Amino acid sequence: MSVADETSQPPAPLCWCCGNQFEEHDLLRLGSHPEAAVCFNCARFLHRRAVGQEDQRRTTLAGRIRTGITGVREWIIAHNWHRLPLLGSLLQRLDRHLP
Ligand SMILES: [Zn+2]
Repeated sequence: MSVADETSQPPAPLCWCCGNQFEEHDLLRLGSHPEAAVCFNCARFLHRRAVGQEDQRRTTLAGRIRTGITGVREWIIAHNWHRLPLLGSLLQRLDRHLP
């Protein structure tokens, strides 16, 4: 084994959803499959998708509100408002607190 092999670090782990590299402390490991990990943003995205599919199966007031918020979110993304310099960062910060 060469000196380079002993000092080289293993590559940073990848998110299995978006494929980006992250530090281990920025990833969530799956319970039964600890080899699979997702980043916090993808975990939030997957949670929203799961709740959205559940809302489609059962109609509730909370589900209707979430569906409305999702519609507004999709409209903002379609119009690239989330990329605007000041408004975009405000919208992204607000989105972290929305269901
Ligand atoms: Zn990810």
